[in-house]
Amino acid sequence: MEPELVAGRECGSCNVCCVALTINDPELQKLQGHRCRNARPDNSCTIYETRPQTCRTFYCGWRRLKWIREPLRPDRSGVLVRQHNIVSKETRTYRQGVIFTLLTAAALKADGLAESVAAAVAADVPVFLHVPGPPGHTASQVQINEVLHDAVVTMDKPAVLKILGRIRAIGRSARHEPIVLGRHDPSDAAQPPNA
Ligand code: SF4
Ligand code: SF4
Repeated sequence: MEPELVAGRECGSCNVCCVALTINDPELQKLQGHRCRNARPDNSCTIYETRPQTCRTFYCGWRRLKWIREPLRPDRSGVLVRQHNIVSKETRTYRQGVIFTLLTAAALKADGLAESVAAAVAADVPVFLHVPGPPGHTASQVQINEVLHDAVVTMDKPAVLKILGRIRAIGRSARHEPIVLGRHDPSDAAQPPNA
């Protein structure tokens, strides 16, 4: 079934998901931070018609979620948003959260970042900040609802950005291990959001 996508938003020349994500599909394995071998210099895909299922079903949050602000197209903002299912083994239920990946330091200055994060926190959607390690290495990821709560309630945008910056700095200095596919950091992997 085709997912519902935000009208008027197209990938265009963006191929952030073909670079920034780990893909562990029977037909294609690649590590985060490495450009897919099937990507052309103009960012199109040489095997588009026969691309793996993972690529067929993946759309980032900017394509899927209307409340993610328009300027946050990943290649223009350095922010990659993904939906993220959180499964409770006890109650056998799941909630849908969102992961904001800050791909570069400049991502912190992206128009709409603070507003989009704050909208999710205010709506009590589980929100995670994801800081990639070097290419091929694990990331740091932390849930940020609690730490942002007061800044969101008081609509203090500078405070939201300051906290995001601080968490990014901590994430950057954390230890990052080489990714071994099938063992490390499933949050890096490109997965169909509703799988
Ligand atoms: S990151 Fe989003 S906008 Fe960019 S190519 Fe992937 S799905 Fe399209
Ligand atoms: S196979 Fe094509 S769509 Fe999939 S990651 Fe590679 S370039 Fe992107």
